[in-house]
Amino acid sequence: MRIVVLAGGIGGARFLRGLKAAEPQADITVVGNTGDDIHLFGLKVCPDLDTVMYTLGEGINEEQGWGRREETWSIREEMGKYGVEPTWFGLGDRDYATHIVRTQMMSAGYGLSAVTEALCARWQPGVRLIPMSDDRVETHVVVDDPDRPGTRKAIHFQEYWVKLRAEPTAHAIVAVGIEEAKPAPGVLAAIAEADVILFPPSNPVVSIGTILGVPGIRDALVEASAPVVGLSPIVGGAPVRGMADKVLEAVGVETSALAVAKHYGPGLLDGWLVDTADAASVPGVEEAGIPCRAVPLMMTDVEATAAMARAALDLAAEVRAEAGA
Ligand code: GDP
Ligand code: CA
Repeated sequence: MRIVVLAGGIGGARFLRGLKAAEPQADITVVGNTGDDIHLFGLKVCPDLDTVMYTLGEGINEEQGWGRREETWSIREEMGKYGVEPTWFGLGDRDYATHIVRTQMMSAGYGLSAVTEALCARWQPGVRLIPMSDDRVETHVVVDDPDRPGTRKAIHFQEYWVKLRAEPTAHAIVAVGIEEAKPAPGVLAAIAEADVILFPPSNPVVSIGTILGVPGIRDALVEASAPVVGLSPIVGGAPVRGMADKVLEAVGVETSALAVAKHYGPGLLDGWLVDTADAASVPGVEEAGIPCRAVPLMMTDVEATAAMARAALDLAAEVRAEAGA
């Protein structure tokens, strides 16, 4: 079975661990979000790609959900002593090595997809991890400018998310460079050849939404013969983790499993899973033209997550059978 998964960071990575446990024989291609990428101290940092790579490669800090396990922070301490900014983005010593290797390869002319493949040769994530694009795309968030009352400014997504903890109102989300970005080599072919396409419980705006914004990817998903099934990151009217409500508000979408399903829409989604806590929203999703089931959607451990993956694959098989009948 060929499965394509569009993934952000933590939600995507944890789901993928469960999917691999549920379907160890599957050929899994992950299209990763790179809108969160940031250049720091001359280095290219790809937080979502690395979260997937480290999680599936057993190198992740489990408690945090991002960064390396057994991390040390000497470089950060030394930088702090020089008074070098920014200090709010956590890069540990082990993690630095990844960014140095990536930046060095890119300076030598390799594209991000080739570099990601090279990094994965070490981590052996057990999936093919491809960035959504080799072109630079950077998500920015439009907020009020506290220094100039009455005006707004756009700040890097990581400044909004990590430094400001998504506290200011987000007026708009802008993926800078996306109009000119091309899908990375292999992305469109993987979608066209897939048997199943899954949206894990990743952020619908700044993870999956950004990937969908790369010209050509959304159309490829709509045209794909494989069913597209998504799992809600919103449970009981709130994100399970993080501040997705703030960026949903920015795009005018209510923070509910039903509203997120409608936001993707029946043109894109062939199936949607909501948590049992949201069972009451199943009829509404189906009225919107999207087959829907309520199952437990809390990724408490690998077994619970594997059960979620099985439920998504079951729903995909069901809608495919319906379409064929
Ligand atoms: P990020 O890039 O690290 O923010 O990660 P993603 O975009 O891949 O995933 C973030 C989303 O995962 C958040 O909106 C969370 O609500 C969602 N999430 C995290 N843990 C769980 C879980 O156990 N169950 C569900 N349904 N969603 C989760
Ligand atoms: Ca992310």
